[in-house]
Amino acid sequence: MAHALSEFLLARLADRERTARAAGDRVIHLSIDGTVRQDPEPGGERVTWWQQAYHPAQELATTTALRSILDLHRPGYRVRADRSRAEADEPFCEACFGEPHPCPTLRLLALPYRDHPDYRSEWEPDA
Ligand SMILES: [Zn+2]
Repeated sequence: MAHALSEFLLARLADRERTARAAGDRVIHLSIDGTVRQDPEPGGERVTWWQQAYHPAQELATTTALRSILDLHRPGYRVRADRSRAEADEPFCEACFGEPHPCPTLRLLALPYRDHPDYRSEWEPDA
């Protein structure tokens, strides 16, 4: 059973992947003055301090790595012999033994999305 925070993070990764796929395989440079350029001439313009380059392939590689981290930090359940699975104790993180789920790693991964309308204050790292 996925936790709400895990589902929230998976939805944010899906958002990022949709954006990256929509960009195709072209590197996009965003300048602070609002100009957008795709694939500057080879050997020509370089990314400077006032530009940000968006690399769709790198973004997809990042989301794949983040999905692997989410999978490592999935919830586990302890079930005593005298109880059914439906009566399992509170979930714990399978990667962070002893930490309740969601663990600090997942809480930190969600932090950049703090302003998202679906983010819950109970997911704050210190909550
Ligand atoms: Zn963990």
